[in-house]
Amino acid sequence: MGTPVKDAIAIAKGMAVTLKELFRPPITEFYPDEPVRFQERFRGVHVLQRDENGLEKCVACFLCAANCPANCIYIEAADNTDTQRISASERYAKVYNIDYNRCIFCGYCVEACPTDAITHGHGFELASYDVSNLIYRKEQLLAPVPAGAAAADS
Ligand code: SF4
Ligand code: SF4
Repeated sequence: MGTPVKDAIAIAKGMAVTLKELFRPPITEFYPDEPVRFQERFRGVHVLQRDENGLEKCVACFLCAANCPANCIYIEAADNTDTQRISASERYAKVYNIDYNRCIFCGYCVEACPTDAITHGHGFELASYDVSNLIYRKEQLLAPVPAGAAAADS
């Protein structure tokens, strides 16, 4: 138990914080009526990135899946051919699924990726009545083809 003087100082400190916050502008987000502001570091739904030519950056090395503690990334690799080039490397991810029933948004997959192919976007509206909707496929995760890129269409 503190002395009365210590208690008074503690109360004064607390009230000072309260008083300071009273004059700050409100930080309430009026979602969904207004767009939500995110910190750049926010880890939302993943984005599979493309290079400047529109090719997929993922080279199907499986490192993201191997580092995922929730075991929620499923990849099937395939070889690029002369007639169908999807990534700039030898292989590409023919199938790339992330199961958001399991993902804990830890970011380990992003850290593990040697080509910066997988990043966190700011998408967060994942709620669904059907859990099968939470398995996101490559087509849902892929970044759009950059304007002017002679992109391969996957
Ligand atoms: S954020 Fe974490 S849990 Fe989610 S897919 Fe990446 S490694 Fe797995
Ligand atoms: S997203 Fe990155 S780590 Fe995962 S398979 Fe593709 S290249 Fe490898």
